[in-house]
Formats: sequence, structure tokens, C-alpha cells
Amino acid sequence: MPNQDNETIIELKGVSKRYGFGDAESYALRNFDLTVKRGEFIMIMGPSGCGKTTLLNIIGLLDQASSGEYILAGKNVARVSSSKKARFRAKEIGFIFQNFNLVPNLSILENVSLPLIYSGCRKSRRLRMADNILEHFHLREREYYMPYQLSGGQQQRVAIARSLIANPSIILADEPTGNLDSRNSHIIMEELQEIHSMGNTIIMVTHNPALTTYATRVINMLDGEIDTDIKTVDDSDLPRGGKNEKISVKVLPSRDPIQMEITSESDVVVSGENVSTTEEVTEELNEKIEEITKTAEEEAPKTAKKSGTNKKSGKKSAKKKSTKKKGAKK
Ligand code: ADP
Ligand code: MG
Repeated sequence: MPNQDNETIIELKGVSKRYGFGDAESYALRNFDLTVKRGEFIMIMGPSGCGKTTLLNIIGLLDQASSGEYILAGKNVARVSSSKKARFRAKEIGFIFQNFNLVPNLSILENVSLPLIYSGCRKSRRLRMADNILEHFHLREREYYMPYQLSGGQQQRVAIARSLIANPSIILADEPTGNLDSRNSHIIMEELQEIHSMGNTIIMVTHNPALTTYATRVINMLDGEIDTDIKTVDDSDLPRGGKNEKISVKVLPSRDPIQMEITSESDVVVSGENVSTTEEVTEELNEKIEEITKTAEEEAPKTAKKSGTNKKSGKKSAKKKSTKKKGAKK
């Protein structure tokens, strides 16, 4: 019987992604097969245009294959509805992008709490969880800063915190160190290594061959196909155990999803509506988040009381209070 920890989490069978028709037809991915076990840390390399981002986007359910099968965590997701995909994505996948993708007019704390909008828990609880995870990344003292006030390395650590907060089983990272100097790249890789050592599955695209020492498997792509595929760690030696045990963030069972997603380097989709993250629309985004939060709070089960997190739910003053409260209490 296969070890639970080494179960297959991703399976692509004959996946192709085609663009254009007739003479203009080209393939970003060509008949692509890939099996990923839980706990693998895969680095994808290859020349520009060989299909790395397309592959990650298909794995991350941000893009749809033209043909082929995709089984994610035991479910065939090749042709499920987009709302189901959104739900799956929120539950199973954390994204890290080259350009960090923080929402510019939201505080660090709010940015990190965004994926939890799906979880159905109250805003106060979401912010508390974001605060927890930021502490793990030694960024708590920056939580009321705006993204532009942080260095690139710090922004990427915030993005990593955000990618982990909903406790996904897979982390997808598209050149996460591409915009960072070597010192900050190293810091980010150490974070990813720690996340991997807890048993998480990571698939990362990089141009930097030096980083492959962190990987358990290195795949080189060429023209939409696998050129070489080398495992440096045996399946039986992959890290085991739960997901983010050390980062003790627990999410309430998912209720009806409010569909907020950060789907690409510039797109934020709230309840099916695309609101890009430019300054003009951030206000609109904030309003939507407020609106969504209110609805979620109204619908939230009374049992939330139990957690004891809402004793001081004076919403307006939560910001100021919590900085002091935390310092004093912990
Ligand atoms: P990589 O990330 O390895 O640089 P991509 O996955 O971004 O490569 O792109 C793979 C190929 O698919 C490239 O040739 C690119 O031009 C093509 N491609 C990607 N997106 C589109 C699109 N929306 N329309 C047409 N061609 C595309
Ligand atoms: Mg790319």
C-alpha cells in the first residue's frame, strides 16, 4: 500500500495547450505527462517561452488545457466549472509570483488575510490569523505598513505568508526570486525550504541553476515538453507529516465561497468581477471586501464566540488596539 505521505497529488496526462489556428497554431504545452507526489519540491527550468508559466497556470487552475487529463488531489479537474475551480484553488493551492502581487492599497495584514475570505470566518479572526503568520515570518511589526513601504524581499515574504494562510497542499511559485538580489533570494529560498520540510509540495519555476540544490527534482523543459526530469531525492525520503504544522494557522471549514482571487500578476477577481489592482479601483476593491466581510459576518455561525477571539471586536479601533494588545499579551 502506498504511504499516505507519498500519495500522488498531481497527475497530468497528455496535457496540451494550443494557441492560434491553422498556420498560426502553436503549442505552449505538448502532450505533457507529469506525476507529482506529496512532499516533492520541483524546480522547473528552461528557456523563455518553453511553457513554464503555462504549466504552472494549468496546475494552479488559472488556465485550462486544450486537451488532456488533470487529476488534482484525486479529483479530475480538467473540465469542472470555474466556480468549482475557484473553490479548489482556494483550498488546495497557494501562489507566489515574481512581482509579489500584493494589493497596493491594502495593509500588509489585510493582504495576508485575503485568501481567508473564502474560509467564511469573521474578519477579526482572519486578521488574527494573518497576524499569527506574519509573526512567524518576523513581519508583525510591519503589518500596518503598505506594500510600497517594504523592500522587495519583505514583500515576497508577505506574499509567501499570504500563499500559506489558507493551508494549501501545493505551493506554486513562478520565478519567486526573479526580482530579488542574491541575499534576498537566499532568504526566500530558506523560507521555501522550511515550508517544504513540513511536508508541503512545492513547484517552482526558476532561471537560476544555483537554486536547484533546494529541489528534490529538477525538470528541464524545451518547446512545451519535458527535456530532462531528474529526481535527486527518492520518493521514500520525501518529507512527511501534515501541512503547515509549525505555522499554526487553522481555518474553519469552508462554507459557501465568496469568490475573491488573485489570479495573475495584475488581476483581482471579486465575486466573478475582475477588479485590477490599480489605484483607481483599489477603493472599489476595499468597498467590495467590506461588503463581502459584512455579509460573511452576518452569516457566520454564532459558534464563533467559542474561540474567544471576538471579545474585543470593536471593529474600527481593532487596528490600533491590536498592536498594543499583542505586545502586551505575548
Ligand atoms: P515561459 O514561462 O516558459 O517563458 P510561457 O508559458 O509564458 O513560457 O509561454 C509558452 C509559449 O506560449 C510562448 O511561446 C508564448 O508566446 C505562448 N503563449 C503564452 N500565452 C499565450 C497567449 N495568451 N496567446 C498566445 N500565445 C501564448
Ligand atoms: Mg514564465
